[in-house]
Amino acid sequence: MDTPRSAGEPEAAQDGLFGLEDVLGEPEASRPAGPLFRDSEEARRMLSVRRIHAEPAAAASPRGRQIVARYPEAELVPTDSHWRIPELHGNQGNAERWVRIKSTVLVLGEKKTLTVRPNGRSADWIAPGAANGCAMACAYCYVPRRKGYANPITVFTNIDALIHRLRRHVTAQGPKKEPNQCDPSSWVYDIGENNDCAVDALISENTADLVRAFTRWPTAKASFATKFVNPDLLLLDPRGRTRLRFSLMPADDSRLLDIRTSPVQQRIDAAADFVEAGYEVHFNFSPVVIRPGWEQAWAQLLQNMDDVLPRSVKDQAAAEVIMLTHNRDLHDVNMAWHPSAEDAIWRPELQQAKRSENGSWNVRYRNAVKAEAVETVRRLVHTYTPWLPIRYAF
Ligand code: SF4
Repeated sequence: MDTPRSAGEPEAAQDGLFGLEDVLGEPEASRPAGPLFRDSEEARRMLSVRRIHAEPAAAASPRGRQIVARYPEAELVPTDSHWRIPELHGNQGNAERWVRIKSTVLVLGEKKTLTVRPNGRSADWIAPGAANGCAMACAYCYVPRRKGYANPITVFTNIDALIHRLRRHVTAQGPKKEPNQCDPSSWVYDIGENNDCAVDALISENTADLVRAFTRWPTAKASFATKFVNPDLLLLDPRGRTRLRFSLMPADDSRLLDIRTSPVQQRIDAAADFVEAGYEVHFNFSPVVIRPGWEQAWAQLLQNMDDVLPRSVKDQAAAEVIMLTHNRDLHDVNMAWHPSAEDAIWRPELQQAKRSENGSWNVRYRNAVKAEAVETVRRLVHTYTPWLPIRYAF
C-alpha cells in the first residue's frame, strides 16, 4: 500500500536505496550532438509556445527556468494557480479556439499533492503526473474534463519532489512477489495518466528524468501510453525499465478522432526503433469504437501489425483493450467544433449512461454490446496476431 513516510519507517525505506544525484536534469551538453526532433518544423507544428502562464514559484524553479529559456519569444504571464486560469479553462467560447490554445499556450505549476494511487489495469500504480493536459485533441479524451476543454499542457516543475515521492514508494513496496497481468516481476507505475509523456518531452526534461529514475529502481518499471512519435526519446537509455504503450486504432477511426496525433502507421513503424533503444513496447488498443465495419477495420490493423512488425517487437509485446467511454458534456462541446466525430462515438442506441462522482454523465456501451465486442477483439487478436497476449480487456 502507499503508506506515508513515518518516524517509525526504517531509514532505507525513508531515504530509498538509490541516489537521485545523477537522475535529475541531465545537462543539455551531455546530449548527443546533432539536431533534436523537438527543434524541428514537425515539432513546432505540434507546439509553438507563444504564452506561458506560470505560478511564480514554478517559473523561478530550475525546471521552470529551463522551460522559460526554451521559449524566449513567449510572453510570461504570472498566475496564482494553474487550476484557475479562466480564459484557458472555461468551456464556453473556447471550443473554436481549443486547438490554437493547445498548440500555443503552456502553463507552469507546482504539483502540491504527490499521491501514488493503486490501479491494477494499465499499471499496478498511478504515479503523480509530471504534467496534465495535452497538445493533441482527441475527440474522446477524458483528460480535459477537470480543467475545461481548452486545457493546454500544464508542466509541473517540482519534478525532484515527484521523483523523491516515487523513490520512497518503490522502496516501501520491496520486490514484487506475485506475477500479475501488469508485469510478471516489476511494479509498474503509470507516469502519464493525464498527459502524453512523448509530447511533454518536447518541452522539458521531465519525461527524461522519469525514464532515467526508473533505471535505478530494479523492482519497478515506468509505463505510459502515447499517440505521438517523438524520436528524441530514442536518445534516452531506458534499459528496459520504461514500457511505452503505443495507442492504436484503425487508421480511418484515428483520422476522424485522434486530432493532431502521429499517424497510426507511424506509431506501428516506430515500435522496432523503440525496442532497439531499450524500451519495452506494448500496444494500447484504445478506444475501440463500434461503428459499421469496425470488425473488418480492426482485422486489417492487426494483419498490418503482423506483416510489418519484426520479431524483436513481437517477442516482447502485449496489449490492452479498452472500449470507448464518452461523456455528455464532451459530446456537447464536440458538437460545436467536430460534429462528424460524434456520429461515430455518440451512439445512444448502443450506449448507457452513468452519473460520475463529479455529477457529469459518462456514457459507455451497454453491457451486452460491450461484452460481445470485447470477445470479438479477443478473437481477432487470436486470429491475426497470435503472438500478442492481451493483458486486460474491458
Ligand atoms: S493524446 Fe491522450 S491525452 Fe492527448 S488528447 Fe489524445 S487521448 Fe487526450
